[in-house]
Amino acid sequence: MTIDLALEAVPHWIAGAAVAPADGPRAEIRDPATGRVVGTVEMGGADVVGRAVLNARSAAGTWAATPATARTAVLHRFRALLLEHSDELASLITSEQGKTLADARGELARSIEAVDVALSVIQQLKGEYADQVAGGVDTYSFRQPLGVCAGITPFNFPAMIPVVMSSAALACGNTFVLKPSEQAPTVPVRLARLLHDAGLPDGVFNVVHGGKEAVDALLDHPDVAAVSFVGSTPVAREVYRRGAAAGKKVQALGGAKNHMVVLPDADLDAAADALVSAAYGAAGQRCMAVTVAVAVGEAAETLTAKTAQRVASLKVGPGTGPDSDMGPLISGAALDRVRGALQRAAEQGGQLVVDGRDLPAPGPGYFIGPSLVDHVDVASELYREEVFGPVLSVVRADDLDQALDIVNANSYGNGSSIFTTSGPAARRFTRGVSTGSVGVNVPIPLPTAWFGFGGWGDSRFGDDGLNHDAYRFYTRAKVVTQRWTEPAPGLVPHFVASGK
Ligand code: NAD
Repeated sequence: MTIDLALEAVPHWIAGAAVAPADGPRAEIRDPATGRVVGTVEMGGADVVGRAVLNARSAAGTWAATPATARTAVLHRFRALLLEHSDELASLITSEQGKTLADARGELARSIEAVDVALSVIQQLKGEYADQVAGGVDTYSFRQPLGVCAGITPFNFPAMIPVVMSSAALACGNTFVLKPSEQAPTVPVRLARLLHDAGLPDGVFNVVHGGKEAVDALLDHPDVAAVSFVGSTPVAREVYRRGAAAGKKVQALGGAKNHMVVLPDADLDAAADALVSAAYGAAGQRCMAVTVAVAVGEAAETLTAKTAQRVASLKVGPGTGPDSDMGPLISGAALDRVRGALQRAAEQGGQLVVDGRDLPAPGPGYFIGPSLVDHVDVASELYREEVFGPVLSVVRADDLDQALDIVNANSYGNGSSIFTTSGPAARRFTRGVSTGSVGVNVPIPLPTAWFGFGGWGDSRFGDDGLNHDAYRFYTRAKVVTQRWTEPAPGLVPHFVASGK
């Protein structure tokens, strides 16, 4: 592939300044709504990663020693700048990622919520104190930052996931090197500038661009203490393996196959509304998208019909279109993947109630319509593999127990939900289901940032702890046991004697 080097290249951000790409390999950035190349990004390697980590390490001591109130004051100003620039940020997200402007604004709202949680870091880091555990002896605990932390993020939330990771890490007193998705690299650099404008010292937050080579350089770098990853399961598994082997703290969140179980006693109109928003919002490119409806008993026919009716009215178009419910996919490769999955689903017995491939493309970009596939076999590829596109499968179950068995046999464990009017059924589901987030009569069980977030099974490897729980990941505990006695007459305490 020949890259047009005259196109604008997204810079790295190191030591508080934009850094132009070197002469190394580049990738194209495309507007998903038009397919047009709009810029380039360097696919950096060990050199640029080494520079970023060196700067982050140099800044680490001073930032860790900066009072927590001064650190959170920077985040307060950053929060204000996120609000002030929200229109600009939303349109950047839409132009590079493709989601609708309303969705992009929603992403920013969740980003701001993550900063709010990070602002409470003093409350979160407060330790414990046990008075007089032995004669004249007290024990207390507190937590300290790790040093240089790295974040590796996916294309689908180019603002929220970098903000979730970095605001917590910075509030805890760490410095940070972000390696965002090469498919949506512009917003993260804009965030770096806003942090800089908020008064963050140089070197505390850095952004380097690239793919596997840059990621491997971070995972192997001896000065990186911890790695947070969010992306697909095969990469998450490998990041966890390589990072842990290098002795780092690693949290690696992977892909998903989120189920919504609908019992016959549910409000089926509400369930169909929820399915449509959860399956097709952001063109299905959300880790919390519902991709499987488990229709129980006689709910199946009505639920499928009501869902199909609603799917027919969804409007697919550019994310900037005021009427668009669903934008394009991120790339031509994603489009081929979704089309291929639908083709094989039909070959493996799935009934295409709505086939998104039939939609006349509303533009030259990576558009595909929403698809609804009924009678999906749990052994089929469509059921087992993550599609990461606007495809909803319907699986049928005889009763709640069978539905639970189906959900729990799936290798992913990110999220699930149940629609029912029965409290006991909901309780049995929430207690028995093997997923990290669970919803009851809500479409997307993404908890507010005031709770922790992370899946089970193949949806997460390594440590948990994002959002409210992040302070545990980004710090380590120290427990002090102390005894103070009156000094013997004539003994001068060391600091006084040395004049320090
Ligand atoms: P991806 O795995 O392709 O890429 C994620 C990051 O890893 C990017 O920064 C990318 O440059 C890097 N990367 C890609 N291949 C690599 C390799 N071989 N070695 C090392 N690094 C590599 O994911 P994506 O397509 O950007 O994002 C979509 C995926 O992310 C979906 O699977 C989705 O479910 C998942 N996701 C999960 C969550 C969650 O909370 N669990 C949230 C958002 C997205």
